[in-house]
Amino acid sequence: FTEADFYQQNFDPQAYLKEYYSMSDSREGANVFLTQNLRILHKMFSLDMLRGGTLIDVGCGPTIYQLLSACEHFHEIIALDYTDQNRQELERWLRNEEGAFDWVPVVKYVCELEGDREKWAEKQEKVRKKVKQVLKCDVTKANLTGPVSLPPADCIVSTLCLEGACKDLPTFRSALRNIGTLVKPGGHLVLVTVLGQTYYAFNKQVFSCLRLQKHEVEAAVEAAGFEVTFSEAQPYAVSDERMDCGGMLGLVARSV
Ligand code: SAH
Repeated sequence: FTEADFYQQNFDPQAYLKEYYSMSDSREGANVFLTQNLRILHKMFSLDMLRGGTLIDVGCGPTIYQLLSACEHFHEIIALDYTDQNRQELERWLRNEEGAFDWVPVVKYVCELEGDREKWAEKQEKVRKKVKQVLKCDVTKANLTGPVSLPPADCIVSTLCLEGACKDLPTFRSALRNIGTLVKPGGHLVLVTVLGQTYYAFNKQVFSCLRLQKHEVEAAVEAAGFEVTFSEAQPYAVSDERMDCGGMLGLVARSV
C-alpha cells in the first residue's frame, strides 16, 4: 500500500498529467479513461440538485477536469490535497503561469458536451476565478484540514482519490465519514471512483489502489450519513497497461 507520504515523495504531477490528461488524437485508447470520466461528471453535474454556493474538491491532485462541469453551478470552489507539489502544480495553472499544463483540449471537450465548444476560454476563466483556496488535507484524519476550519459546503466532489488514499475498506469508510463533515446537512457528495482496480502507474512508479465494488462504495457512502441518489457504474473495456481498472463509478449522494 502506498501511504500519503509516498505520494509526497514520489508523485510527479507533470508526469501524471502528461500520462492521464493529455488529449491528443494519437492517444485514442488512452483518452477513453479521461473522456468516460468527463462524461459521467457532465451527467452528474447536470442534475438540478447539484447547485449552490460552495464546492469543495477533496484530493484534487494537480487536475481541474473534475471542476469543468461543476464550475457552472457553484459560486466558489475550494480545492484540497495532501501533496505539496500537486497543490503547487494546480496553483501554477490557476495563475496561468508559464509551464502550467495545457487543459485546453479537455476544456473544449467538456464545452462540446455542454453544447458549445466555443465557450472554452470563458469556462477556463470561470474555473480560474472560482477556485478561491487550495489547501492541504488528509482524508484519513477526522480533522482533515488540520488547524484550518472550512465553512460547511453545499457540495463536495472527489475523483480518484479515496481508493488511492485508503489501504482497506474500513479506512475508506472512515475517510468518507471524515469528508462528510465538510458538507452541510442536505448538501451533496459527488464521487468518481475506479472499480476493481489494484494499482495505477506512470513515470515508472506504481501506486496502490483499494479494490472496490459498486455495492461497497454505496454501502460506505450510506454508512457515512448520506442517501445515494444516483449511482452508475460503467465498464472500462480498454486494455490499458497503466492500470488494471475494471470500470468506473459515478455516484451522487445527499447528506441526511
Ligand atoms: N483528483 C485527481 C487526483 C487523483 S490522484 C484526479 O482525478 O486525477 C490521487 C490524489 O490523492 C493525489 O493528488 C494525492 O496527493 C492524493 N492523496 C493521497 N493520499 C491522500 C490523503 N491521505 N489525503 C488527501 N489526499 C491524498
